[in-house]
Amino acid sequence: MQHLVETLGAIGEQPGGGIVRPVYSPAWVTAREQLATWMREAGLVVRGDAVGNLFGRISGETERTVLTGSHFDTVKLGGRYDGALGVLAALAALRALLKEGFRPRKSLEMVALCEEEGSRFHSNFWGTRGILGLIGPPELDDLRGDDGVSIREAMRSVGLAPDEFQQAVRDDLDAFVELHIEQGRILYDEGLPLGVVRTITGLYRFLATVEGRTDHAGTTPMDLRRDAFQAAAEMAVEMTRIVSAVGRPAVVTTGYWDVQPGAWNIVPGLVRFGVDLRHPDEAVKQRLGSEIRAAGEAVAARRGVTVQYEMVGDVPPNDMHPEIRSAITGAAEALGVRFIDMVSGAGHDSQVMASRVPTGMLFVPSVDGRSHSAAEFTSPEDAARGATVLAATLRRLAE
Ligand SMILES: [Zn+2]
Repeated sequence: MQHLVETLGAIGEQPGGGIVRPVYSPAWVTAREQLATWMREAGLVVRGDAVGNLFGRISGETERTVLTGSHFDTVKLGGRYDGALGVLAALAALRALLKEGFRPRKSLEMVALCEEEGSRFHSNFWGTRGILGLIGPPELDDLRGDDGVSIREAMRSVGLAPDEFQQAVRDDLDAFVELHIEQGRILYDEGLPLGVVRTITGLYRFLATVEGRTDHAGTTPMDLRRDAFQAAAEMAVEMTRIVSAVGRPAVVTTGYWDVQPGAWNIVPGLVRFGVDLRHPDEAVKQRLGSEIRAAGEAVAARRGVTVQYEMVGDVPPNDMHPEIRSAITGAAEALGVRFIDMVSGAGHDSQVMASRVPTGMLFVPSVDGRSHSAAEFTSPEDAARGATVLAATLRRLAE
């Protein structure tokens, strides 16, 4: 599998390192052709759908289908493993099952999903949403990249018929299994080869707008200021303290800041900052959300500024399906592969798939926890072991 990782990873790779392979780009087209070639060579029946997903199928006795795969687009300057490893592990698993002469009762299919990352359009999960019928017609024109090109135009440029996007919808799926790199460092630190995802974490995201007063930086005494930045910074520290006190796996990040007017010699009068809170328990997530909002309001009142919140995302956690989880854990146990139950702190195709199809997910270690960077790496041994567990899982689900 390692040479496939390297060959695919070279498509869209930049001279300084890192892959740029957004949906419907020339590199994306090349990668898709390469994958189709490998899938045909493995003996799969290959076809594409209306949004650009690529499928390789082993027909069983019934049309009901067990699907496995991940996405093959990348973030800007992404690594070789995010998404790609799930596609290549699916290919390796199906190839191995064919070689063993396995005759599935249910049909077995792999998918290279066209888009997950939202790195060109804000189209996150476009491939999975296409399969599930969750794309809204206005999106074809509303979704535009930084270059102004709409997703409709981009689809047409690679030979797809955008108006036929509804033909991508599937109603024959009985299961979806996704292998993915962990993108964190829990497995790596514990020295474990496999994680079985229990839940994909919930997201609570809001924009805080703090308003104080702009004043002269030289003439306004400290005790008379209503510095919006100082207040916002204290809010961020206070919110972080509250969430840290809860312990793992609660996380909060305040990574987006807009400070106005943004000058050396003016006391900031207006600050917007983004709060991204995640927890796999919906009740805890909502409680923490309320607590950190209240903490921000308390800081505002004490410092004589105002704060307003605008919700930008409130996504509940998505539990993986118990039957798919037990197929994965059963396969791992039978193979003697050690594993732990995990929460995924990152979003994945599986969380969307889980809304309609029984879904399960397995993680392999990311060396040093690195991801969304050229430094992404999973050892060939861990990748191969993950693909073996995936194959055994598919066998259980399809026989
Ligand atoms: Zn991914």
